[in-house]
Amino acid sequence: MSSARGPRRLTTEHEAEFLESRIKTLIELNLKTFWSIAIILLGFGLWDAYVDPAHWRAAFSIRIVAAVIVAVTGAFQNLPGKGHWLPLMAKVRLVTAVLASVLAAAALDRGYGFGVAGLAVIILTGPYAAIDSRDLLKTNLSALAALAVLLLFVELDRFDRIGTGAFALLAVAVSTLLGRVLEASHRRAFALDLELHRDARTDALTGLANRRGMQERGRVELKRAKRSGAPVSVLLGDLDHFKNINDRYGHEAGDDALVQTAGVLRGALRESDALGRWGGEEFIAVLPATGAAGALEVAERMRAGIANTLFEGLREGSTISIGVATASTVDDPSLAWDELLKEADQYLYRAKHDGRNRVVTSSPSGATPST
Ligand code: GH3
Ligand code: MG
Ligand code: MG
Repeated sequence: MSSARGPRRLTTEHEAEFLESRIKTLIELNLKTFWSIAIILLGFGLWDAYVDPAHWRAAFSIRIVAAVIVAVTGAFQNLPGKGHWLPLMAKVRLVTAVLASVLAAAALDRGYGFGVAGLAVIILTGPYAAIDSRDLLKTNLSALAALAVLLLFVELDRFDRIGTGAFALLAVAVSTLLGRVLEASHRRAFALDLELHRDARTDALTGLANRRGMQERGRVELKRAKRSGAPVSVLLGDLDHFKNINDRYGHEAGDDALVQTAGVLRGALRESDALGRWGGEEFIAVLPATGAAGALEVAERMRAGIANTLFEGLREGSTISIGVATASTVDDPSLAWDELLKEADQYLYRAKHDGRNRVVTSSPSGATPST
């Protein structure tokens, strides 16, 4: 993602999510609006009657037909399971309203210029019925094409014909601009939202997922494991006597050591495993589709990795104590994430109590002596 001010580009995956969110917004915006469109279409019959009492009925019959199309497309999109038709139905309504306003105005003797003013207003609603700029362009072109055909056949004097065309083009230009502005601001809000969501789940120091991110990930993985019947393991690690590092070398060096720790732990994991910073000098790993034996192996690899690391710039390294809990979702399908976590925490406590630099799990071979 680019700077806070520059245009924001989304990844392909996020672009798809963005479009989905646009469609959702569109649907929320347009769910009931068809009623007001139908009523406004009919309501302007009063204006017709005022400017041309002799011909307003002819105009009104056109308005009734258009109002019926608007109401039917609205009712259809609201039928169960037909929601995905809404973007198309909204366009049908827009084109219908454009055509009806010109036809109705053309049926009047006087006041064409006034009657057709509604055209601009209708075209300007396009940005609220289109998914993105390209979709809006298609909508506007459909309206313009239909209008062009209409203007060829409707009886109008040259002045009104040209006036309507110019009016419509102008309205389309403004609508395009409005559509771009709306899409850009929505895209920006979407990108900021993504960034915020990511930042809220990322640890600023190590770049790993933070506690919140790992809570979410853990719950997701446990749920997924329950569905598939696979086990899932949680590793909770805490650096030993880390306070000493800070005391001897300063807090900044301690921070550096934490970043290096994150790198070593990550190196002990598979791509599909999740690693996060649980708090100060505590780390957590969630291993999908990993039983007790596999998790013990990984934890041991982590422990050894830290024990064998000399922190860059320091004359020493650290050790880590790790508690491992495994959920066998087949044996215990109701196990909650918090319970699994609590179990890992208890084993971590035991590892500390038993002398640190070790892994403790529920499995009998789970306690490894310090080396
Ligand atoms: P134990 O083996 O019992 O875990 O000993 P410990 O010293 O690691 O544990 P304790 O909980 O007493 O202290 C944790 C220390 O970790 C305190 C603090 O100095 C250090 N620490 C926690 N978060 C950070 C951090 O973000 N940066 C730095 N530099 N140090 C941190
Ligand atoms: Mg601690
Ligand atoms: Mg500690």
